[in-house]
Formats: sequence, C-alpha cells, structure tokens
Amino acid sequence: MTDETSDARVEIDLDAFRHNVRTLSELVRPAATMLAIKADAYGHGMLPLAAVALEAGATSLAVLEVPAALALRHAGITAPVFAWLHGEHTDFGAAIDADVDLGISARWQLDAVLAAGRETPARLHLKIDTGLHRNGASREDWPALVAAAVEAQRLGRIVIVGLWSHLADASPEDDAAALDAFRLAVEVARGLGAEPELLHLAASSAGIRMPQARLDVVRFGIAAYGISPFDDRSGRDLGLRPVMSVRARVVAVHDGLATIGVGSGHGIHPPAIGAAEVLVGRQRRRITALDVDALSIDVEGMQVGAGDEVIVFGPGDDGEPTAEEWSRWAGTIGDEIVARVRRLPRVYL
Ligand SMILES: *Cc1c(COP(=O)(O)O)cnc(C)c1O
Repeated sequence: MTDETSDARVEIDLDAFRHNVRTLSELVRPAATMLAIKADAYGHGMLPLAAVALEAGATSLAVLEVPAALALRHAGITAPVFAWLHGEHTDFGAAIDADVDLGISARWQLDAVLAAGRETPARLHLKIDTGLHRNGASREDWPALVAAAVEAQRLGRIVIVGLWSHLADASPEDDAAALDAFRLAVEVARGLGAEPELLHLAASSAGIRMPQARLDVVRFGIAAYGISPFDDRSGRDLGLRPVMSVRARVVAVHDGLATIGVGSGHGIHPPAIGAAEVLVGRQRRRITALDVDALSIDVEGMQVGAGDEVIVFGPGDDGEPTAEEWSRWAGTIGDEIVARVRRLPRVYL
C-alpha cells in the first residue's frame, strides 16, 4: 500500500495561520510578535510559514538552532531571526555574518561568540532562568554574565539587544512569580550598565492570559498553529483556527473494518486504546488498530468503500476531531500531535 493509492496527506491551511498570527499580534499590540517556527514550524513547514507569519503581523522569527536561522537567511528572509539553543559545535561566526540574533544563557556562549572574532557586533539577548531550570543563567551567574556582556559591548564586540526568559506555563501564580524574578534580573542588569532595547518572556500561554507579561515582545508558538495552550479552553474558544489537517482515503474495507494508509510511522500517536476516532463518511468512528503504515477504523454498518475520504484530525468544522482532542486521547500536548507528523506529502492551501 503506498501513499499514492491512499492519497494520505497533510493539509496546511495558510489562511488559518494568517488569521491566527493576525489575531494574536493584534491582541498583544503594542508588544511585538515573534513567531516561533522551531521544529519545522511545529511540523507545518518552516519556510512557507515564515513568509506568511511576517506578512500577517509577526516582526521576527524564532528557531532553536543556528542552522535553521541560516536556512531562513538563505531563503531570503531579512526580518530579525532569533536562535537560542547552542552547543559546542554551534557556528557563531556564521550566525553573526548572517545577522542572526542570539540568545545567550551562559558565559561559555558569550566567550564563543567573542572567539568567533567578527568585526560586526553580535546581536545578543541575555537569558535569565526564572524557574524553568532548563536553560538560562541562574540568579547567581546572572551578574557576571551581564557584566561580561556590558564590557564586550563597551569594546564594540556585541550589542545587548534584549533580556529574556521563558515561562513554564505551569500556573498563573508560577508565571507571576517568574515575571517578578525577571523584573528583578532586569534591574540588576540595568544597574550593571545594560541598556536592552527588548524585554521578552511570554510565549502563547502568558501572551494570551497575562497582559503584564507581554513586555516588548511575545514569542508565540502553538497558538499560532490554532492549538490552545490551555486545558480548559480550545483554540476555537480563543478565536483561533487549527492550521493542520491529516487526511487520507479508504484503501480497503473488510469485515466492517476500513483501512487507511496513515500510521504510527507517519507520526500518528498511539492513542489510548479505543478512545481515538476519525471522521469517515460524516461520522466519527473508532480506530481499532494502529500499525506503522496503516490504521483500521470500525465502519460496521456503514456504506464505506475504497476512495472515501477520512479526516484523522483537522479544524473540526465538519465534526472531525481536532489535534487538541488527539492530544487528550494520547495523553500529551497538542504540539506533540502536529510536530510529529512526517512522511506524508504536505499540501498548502
Ligand atoms: C517554543 C518556544 C516558544 C513558543 O512557545 P509556545 O508555548 O508554543 O507558544 C517561545 N519561546 C521559546 C524560547 C520557545 O522555545
């Protein structure tokens, strides 16, 4: 069974993405919108979405690593691009040459930027850890990192463009405490002579529910793809539209079971047994088995034949499940549902 016969595909609704970016960027104005297009735009395709994001109101883009930022530059994107996850092999020189904004979490990263020996000052955003303990300078290390950066700026080697952090999105109380910790760190940095142009902290969750955390820039990710960052409100409740659909056609029907050519090998999450459904012939029907290249659907009592359209997940407009529903069935977050989809042709609408 091949993907051609089953016509399995991922549809990316660029109008929905445009709508979401517009909605979110208007919500947080006068804060600017940085659009997170890491992980190949959460599985939606980095380059096409980057262009649409910038048309629709985002003023900068965020990726994880320098190579993705360079790919955006090679594609002709001139807007600010932010990369913040670095390792010992990160090519900081190439990043500086390509005018990539760099998130800097530790002294070794600042030292590596300086060691790249470029004439052009590197554009840096210094990161303080405000509780996530994943990345960012600790409160103890922060003054030394800032002081070294201020000295490098005085020598014309770097520019401290921003100070930033990332929220755990655990609860509004935790986010409020992290915002306080961030403000303190900003004061410390200003006391040491830093004059950042941009302060940024919030991603989708705080960007939507915590106006005081929007600061100069909100880094929107998952919400822009039409998936809610909250358990108790859907993307639709937030006025957002799901961007990705996974569709296929029935390839065979035997004994009340229809088979489609999409499986775990395409990134479909093993759902809780018996819970997950798809839309077939305008009805929600249960998935009975998930294999690497196929899944089986209970179509007992239905008139279903080869070639009939099946929606695994989509915007929900015709009654099909959304990625948010799949995330509940699979016991994970919506990001994991869309970002894992692979080995299916992408069709941009
Ligand atoms: C992924 C990411 C974002 C976007 O987060 P969402 O919760 O998807 O909106 C923002 N900032 C950083 C640093 C990220 O890694």
